[in-house]
Amino acid sequence: MRQTTETTEAGGTIREETPLLISGSSPYGEERADLFIAEGRIRALGPEAAAEAERLTAEHGPDAVRRIDAEGLIALPGMVDLHTHLREPGREDAETVESGSRAAALGGFTAVHAMANSSPVADTAGVVEQVHRLGLESGWTEVHPVGAVTVGLAGEQLAELGAMADSSAQVRMFSDDGICVHNPVLMRRALEYVKSFGGFIAQHAQEPLLTDGAQMNEGCVSAVLGLPGWPAVAEEAIIARDVLLTQHVESRLHVCHVSTKGSVEIVRWAKERGIDVTAEVTPHHLILTEEMVRSFNPVYKVNPPLRTAEDVHALREGLADGTIDVIGTDHAPHPTQLKECEWHQAAMGMTGLETALSVVQHTMVDTGLMDWRRFAEVSSVRPAEIAGHPHQGRPLAVGDPAHLILVDPQARRTVRPEEHATKGRNSPFSGMELPGQVRTTILAGRAVVDEGALQRSLTGRKADHRA
Ligand SMILES: [Zn+2]
Repeated sequence: MRQTTETTEAGGTIREETPLLISGSSPYGEERADLFIAEGRIRALGPEAAAEAERLTAEHGPDAVRRIDAEGLIALPGMVDLHTHLREPGREDAETVESGSRAAALGGFTAVHAMANSSPVADTAGVVEQVHRLGLESGWTEVHPVGAVTVGLAGEQLAELGAMADSSAQVRMFSDDGICVHNPVLMRRALEYVKSFGGFIAQHAQEPLLTDGAQMNEGCVSAVLGLPGWPAVAEEAIIARDVLLTQHVESRLHVCHVSTKGSVEIVRWAKERGIDVTAEVTPHHLILTEEMVRSFNPVYKVNPPLRTAEDVHALREGLADGTIDVIGTDHAPHPTQLKECEWHQAAMGMTGLETALSVVQHTMVDTGLMDWRRFAEVSSVRPAEIAGHPHQGRPLAVGDPAHLILVDPQARRTVRPEEHATKGRNSPFSGMELPGQVRTTILAGRAVVDEGALQRSLTGRKADHRA
């Protein structure tokens, strides 16, 4: 039999996996091509894949190759999320790195970026190294910590950005997400500082004075319901300011969860001027509108708020034409008591890791706005490029690291949050029937998810293990 060797594919030490033959899948939903995976990489594609598997089987017996029948499934690069809340350290009742990683793997993500608003805040090398280590120990997906821009997310003093960049977590993405860096001098300094090591600032664009006490989108519905409104201009004004600051200091900006038509227009304008800005949209902003708030069900309470149908239309168009670069889930799990309460008391946020692919298929692919190749761009290739992970978001080609997923686009399923791996039950899609199902997630050559269920992580954690 094959010898066990060590490799460092996913940033951690892993054991070599039995070679894998995936037969019958269609990369990007295009021509069928078998894949042969060994030592964490794609070793053969097309007819050579089966031949390679046959050769190994003849030499070493039937157990030398594992086989996955992927007839009718689409092979895509593993998804990469720039915007995940894993809650650990500090809010392990809401989520842990382990539970969030499991949810990510089931959702088809081979890398996630853990936002900094944990407790303590990820504003030091110590905390980002802790989160990074917990991710490596779990081994269901890569976990890359995001560093806070300011100490304690307080917006008063820059955090130790350089120390976080130099740490073992090698942080390149910094964000006070959940809160806007609204002091323009601090924002400018942060943009300047991260240039020295190729980093970038991911801004939660929300002018705080314009959104004080806001409960939902400002408009006709908020007026009828009597809820304090959250005007679109509060988001757009910050994006406009930040793209100009970014141009001024020649740095790099990423705009988190763009939610309005005007925001899409500003990003488009900035890109036309050559400003180095990228933007993301959440799956829920591609489908849900402020109309949902009429139910007063706190599951629809989210930041930024659900907007109008016109905004949803503009976000879909912006994603289709490349103005919006990527999907970011903004997966935000909360304990039940923070969501099953009065609207005013409820926390803001929705879970999203395990439904992202289905929502984007439903809103973008099944509507004809994008094909699966473009889906791979927005869910994997571009986020990996933005975050600076050259081994993720790779084309499915010989020699590339085997971080990939197999998707059944014909599957339909009713979303049942109680069956999700995330600890959060706050899915706005609960009870909704959605298309598409991630059947297999392969991380560094290992099927951590197969048949839609967790198998074994890179570090050997079993599906039945509970964090
Ligand atoms: Zn967030």
